[in-house]
Amino acid sequence: MITRDFLDGLRRLGPVRLMEPMRRHTTWGVGGPADVYFVARSEEELVKAFVLAREHDVPIFVLGSGSNVLVGDEGFRGLVIENQAGGVERPRRENGWLLVRAYSGTSLAAAARRLSFAGVAGLEWACGIPGTVGGAVVYNAGAYGGCLRDVLVMARLADGRGRIVEMGPEDLALGYRGSVLTRGLLRELVVLSVDLRLWEGDAQDLKRRVHELDARRKAAQPPGRNAGSVFKNPPDRPAWWLIDQVGLRGHRIGDAQVSEKHANFILNLGRARAADIAALIELARSRVRERFGIELELEVTLVGEGF
Ligand SMILES: Cc1cc2nc3c(=O)[nH]c(=O)nc-3n(C[C@H](O)[C@H](O)[C@H](O)COP(=O)(O)OP(=O)(O)OC[C@H]3O[C@@H](n4cnc5c(N)ncnc54)[C@H](O)[C@@H]3O)c2cc1C
Repeated sequence: MITRDFLDGLRRLGPVRLMEPMRRHTTWGVGGPADVYFVARSEEELVKAFVLAREHDVPIFVLGSGSNVLVGDEGFRGLVIENQAGGVERPRRENGWLLVRAYSGTSLAAAARRLSFAGVAGLEWACGIPGTVGGAVVYNAGAYGGCLRDVLVMARLADGRGRIVEMGPEDLALGYRGSVLTRGLLRELVVLSVDLRLWEGDAQDLKRRVHELDARRKAAQPPGRNAGSVFKNPPDRPAWWLIDQVGLRGHRIGDAQVSEKHANFILNLGRARAADIAALIELARSRVRERFGIELELEVTLVGEGF
């Protein structure tokens, strides 16, 4: 419960905002207010805020960059902890590999670019993926044939009592856009850091590769406010093709629109509400189910109230 005691404890860690509009913190630019909003700037603050909320039985939502979430128009009843506990340690050499620890609030794309341009290979695929390292663990973020599982040696996580747990790729069950964290453990654990196994490369070659992937991404994806792919790709056909086939490319509800350029993206044209985006999602699902008998599975996570 959100009590005075809880808020006093949180304020001892840093500034606390009440009724913070979540639309300010999601790439879709939608979402109602969070009861309590706290920005964790260090691992210690992240763990302490997490433990405090657990002790007071306050529902927690750990937010990275908000690039894969649809927050409801009624917002979130509980504590949102925005994770800005970032940083990347200098690569360590071990058995011919370069081991790098990245903290969970780090931007995955920024870390990947910095490392690639410095001649550290293995993360080029990640250079255009928005979001934090923590979010990337949750979804096993990936693109262009690479994903986090390929390079992750170990992740450090904290539980609701502040105990540190170390998990490898098998324990995390990293698979296509998912992990144990997307299958129910989410509320119990927070990702703190990852150890990545990378290797030496040629900085010029890596830079060229990154620019090539940037150009491919730019050509394929629409600009504007969105959350990347809305649905996972079913085994046989990509989600964008199915949505296109049922006539929804460009379809609009309120200010939410299925992208003309990539039908698995939904854009906020300006004043979309979460309910508009959710209605487009339901429409796509029902049409694809009726026509193809395929159940589209969400890649984005629905959070909070108002759906
Ligand atoms: C334009 C665009 C392009 C994209 N392209 C790709 C792509 O090519 N490949 C791809 O895989 N994804 C892509 N995405 C989706 C998104 O960038 C990734 O899923 C990203 O990993 C989400 O990270 P985040 O920090 O924004 O997570 P958020 O959206 O903030 O959170 C997502 C979920 O992760 C949980 N979470 C976040 N941090 C932690 C933590 N430290 N501990 C525990 N749980 C946590 C949250 O509670 C939430 O449930 C794209 C998104 C956009 C907007």
